[in-house]
Amino acid sequence: VITDLAATSGSELAPADVCIVGAGPAGQVLASELAGTNKRVVVLESGNLSFDAKAIALNDGEVDSSHHSPRALMKGRRRQVGGTTNLWVYGSTGDDGRHRARMLIPREIDFEDRGLSGAGAWPFGRSALDPYYERARALLGLEGASFEPDAWRTNGSTFDFDDSSMLTHIVCHHAASDVFSGNVADQFRGLREVELVLNATVASINRDNDRMGEAVVVRPDGTRLSLKARVFVVATGGVENARLLLLSDLPNGSRSNVGHYLMDHPEFDIGVLHPASRTAFEQMNFYDLRWTGDRLVSGQIALSSDAVTTQGLLDMCFVLVAQRKGYGTKAGVELKKLSAAKRARNLSGVTRAAGAAAVRPREAVAAIRNRLAGDEYSEFRGGWSVDSSRRFGVFEVFAVAEQSPTSSNRISLSDRRDGFGIPRAHMHWRWQEEDLERIRRAGHILEAELQRAGAGRYESLIGRDGAIDVHWQGIHHPMGTTRMSISPEHGVVDANCLVHGTTNLYVTGTSVFPTGLGYSNPTFTVVALVIRLADHLRTKLT
Ligand SMILES: Cc1cc2nc3c(=O)[nH]c(=O)nc-3n(C[C@H](O)[C@H](O)[C@H](O)COP(=O)(O)OP(=O)(O)OC[C@H]3O[C@@H](n4cnc5c(N)ncnc54)[C@H](O)[C@@H]3O)c2cc1C
Repeated sequence: VITDLAATSGSELAPADVCIVGAGPAGQVLASELAGTNKRVVVLESGNLSFDAKAIALNDGEVDSSHHSPRALMKGRRRQVGGTTNLWVYGSTGDDGRHRARMLIPREIDFEDRGLSGAGAWPFGRSALDPYYERARALLGLEGASFEPDAWRTNGSTFDFDDSSMLTHIVCHHAASDVFSGNVADQFRGLREVELVLNATVASINRDNDRMGEAVVVRPDGTRLSLKARVFVVATGGVENARLLLLSDLPNGSRSNVGHYLMDHPEFDIGVLHPASRTAFEQMNFYDLRWTGDRLVSGQIALSSDAVTTQGLLDMCFVLVAQRKGYGTKAGVELKKLSAAKRARNLSGVTRAAGAAAVRPREAVAAIRNRLAGDEYSEFRGGWSVDSSRRFGVFEVFAVAEQSPTSSNRISLSDRRDGFGIPRAHMHWRWQEEDLERIRRAGHILEAELQRAGAGRYESLIGRDGAIDVHWQGIHHPMGTTRMSISPEHGVVDANCLVHGTTNLYVTGTSVFPTGLGYSNPTFTVVALVIRLADHLRTKLT
């Protein structure tokens, strides 16, 4: 059943067994897992089936960050059925018109306490999630997809890192966004005992004695109604999960960590590799985004698990993209920064970048020519290994890193209010000096190990002052804001995703990650965690 609150009146919705807030991947997977279990499941979704500017404006908030843009909270999220998957960007070489996203499986070390910040790690290891990753594959169209590099590389298609190397290879699969944002209306209509309610913004979840009793829902015209339920599951994404909990009537002691420990996966240029052999660009197709049979797959370089643990590093991966000669020169890099500074409306950044490019006019002309020619490859587009014009000169190398969980990086409530008069989110995010230092050390390791493997000449792009220029200014993977912990002292939810100190309020999504899970994009893990939560709720509700 699908109900649109914009077209109904009344002050109450029929009570539910389970009220799920949010119809992004997390909310959708939970609803479909609980469908047909003889329980009434209601999914309250703030947005619509299609783009709706008014709903999307509810995501705006204040940003105070060392690299995210002032519009970061608008850029990295979407209020619409399908949630943020509506922004997925990966295409493909043999394009089938579907947008895709990277699916990576985290490593055991990503769940462990590596002492990065003293905040603790997951209450369970990766093996506890393995059966759920297996079930998640079916939902994401990844049945039988191997994450073992050997299954995808051929002779000469990767650099040779021997067993003593601090580098290794990893494999990334790509899932299609239309699983969550395609024909969702029909999918929902097919779910027994599930009602999807559109235009239903949840303003708070309130207590009824010692339990959470009702969700307060706002219609587009501002009128309010309520939904009572036995169990509430907040699945509104990594920022809104914290915001909604802060707006809700939580028991004393449950809210002290809400919003803290915000993490993202910054992506930044780390170097340029001039390969030893000119044939590298055709040969090294392991690193390209490409179709192999019916799988869209790409390979990356990563720090080995051993290097991460013994050297106390952040878990990071390195992505290679073939580019024309002239890419990655000083002027080229400055011009890239110029576009970022313009996007962020950073006037001093614009002046600095333009000035620096002006002193190297030849390089600047080459960089502009490359750009105008439109043949800069991107990781999203892939296909360079099958481009027969063979005009590449270098590999762009960019890095994806986790951060150490840090309490001062956080989502809180702003004094500003949204269109419904509800306090907006305020985001505070800073690099930690220790993390920047870990990234610099990882850069040195990358350089030394590439040289040892005979990969070619590597130029670091990390500034002398250690400056790192990130690619994206939106917050793409907001994690950690309702982190999982054994005790309430270190987090917000327990190992079952139940908010500490409550009996019937659950949270799911990236906000429950107590660590950034290394370089892994989060949705595969979100889906696995949601399936695990569904198993728990099925038992609880019998
Ligand atoms: C550009 C971009 C690219 C990405 N690429 C990848 C990738 O390659 N691989 C990957 O794994 N991940 C990727 N991600 C991240 C991925 O999209 C998220 O991890 C995923 O969407 C999280 O799912 P979710 O359901 O928890 O939250 P969301 O997708 O954010 O969904 C939350 C839902 O809750 C609704 N909602 C919010 N507030 C309320 C409220 N108060 N009341 C009712 N409903 C509400 C929203 O409308 C939305 O439908 C990318 C993100 C971006 C921005």
